Amino acid sequence: MITKPKGTYDLYGTDERIYSYISNLIDDYMINYNYDKIRTPVFEASELFHRGVGETTDIVTKETYDFTDRGGRSITLRPEGTAGVVRSFIENKLYGNRSDAIKFYYNETMYRYERPQAGRYRELTQIGVEVFNSDDVMIDAEVISLGYNILKELGLNDAVVKLNTLGDAESRKNYTKALVDYFKPHVKELCEDCQRRLDTNPLRLLDCKVDSDTELFKNAPVISDYLTPSSIERFNKLKEYLNILDVDYEINYNIVRGLDYYDHDVWEYFLEDNNLALGGGGRYNTLIKSLDGPEMPAVGFAFGVDRLISVIKNKIGENEAEKTLDAFIMSVNEEERMFAIKISQTLRLNNISCEINSTNLGLKAQFKQADRLNSKFLVLLNSENLKKGIITIKDNKTKEEVKVDESEVVDYLLGNI
Ligand code: AMP
Repeated sequence: MITKPKGTYDLYGTDERIYSYISNLIDDYMINYNYDKIRTPVFEASELFHRGVGETTDIVTKETYDFTDRGGRSITLRPEGTAGVVRSFIENKLYGNRSDAIKFYYNETMYRYERPQAGRYRELTQIGVEVFNSDDVMIDAEVISLGYNILKELGLNDAVVKLNTLGDAESRKNYTKALVDYFKPHVKELCEDCQRRLDTNPLRLLDCKVDSDTELFKNAPVISDYLTPSSIERFNKLKEYLNILDVDYEINYNIVRGLDYYDHDVWEYFLEDNNLALGGGGRYNTLIKSLDGPEMPAVGFAFGVDRLISVIKNKIGENEAEKTLDAFIMSVNEEERMFAIKISQTLRLNNISCEINSTNLGLKAQFKQADRLNSKFLVLLNSENLKKGIITIKDNKTKEEVKVDESEVVDYLLGNI
């Protein structure tokens, strides 16, 4: 038997239904927030991610799926959504002469060669948003609250935003220096990854999963002491807007995010009792220019959909996410079968979901089948009644039966489902 590759999964049943539910809800939500959906290729030139995500990030150094195609090109399966959207934005000149905020969202699979574990896959799905062309902190607040509101809408009422600012370039420069000065004398106490980070990307030390609870890390310098006055002012304004929008946020100076391109605010979405991030984002004002586009500010975030599915499933329980059907149409002879197939089409074209007996089951087995499919109603056909144009509809829960005229079946069901 051929099995699925490590770190991947098949999506079906309850999980797939939750995924579709999330996708549909977000498609609707994005219309309200004036976003356009964008789809970009699963693979891109490797250089895009090296320059876009950052040479020294874990994602690029350890996690990308790289290969050389038959034409000798260096190709990478996208590990995240932003770089591809930015590439498309630049290549297709989607900025035109626009002076408004330009908003996109995507719902796509990503590929990271990570060590598979709960909530961490090699093929993962992210739903993300990117807003280009506005440096107004009001947009940061709108974007953060958009993600927060989606979580609430999905029933995750204990959602909380962990928020930090990395400040402007000057703040980051000062802070980076302070981190290096602080950790350098303790280099031998650091994990292997952090020893490397100290040289290549000191901010990422704060992301350390190994030593973050040690005294050394707890006493490390915090960014808030190194922010320039204008960065402080910007962050305060952001908090003010988030208060207006009723976003439940807390400041967490350890949020730096795994990618290289962020400046100013960065944040992650969590549930109160769960330390697995559901999503994260930030402002990245230099990325578009660094990928040969115009100088243009940007802000965005991505949700890990696989994690959303699992927390939603925990919340609502398997039962509530079970599939249901409006009606099961029962038939036992050819006359009834001919009527069943006809009425099934009529119901389906009227947005009533239904199933027919298409495996030649006996009556008893059809009742069982209808239960298994969670059918709300049974449509009982009977040759004698059919001649008179009468159909019996049985409520599968209360077991009440009514007889209705053939022409009224649709209206009756629509009125009761
Ligand atoms: P990132 O692009 O790393 O900022 O990740 C954004 C979100 O995607 C995270 O908060 C997670 O919810 C999710 N995520 C990241 N990596 C994985 C993975 N390997 N498997 C599943 N979800 C992931």
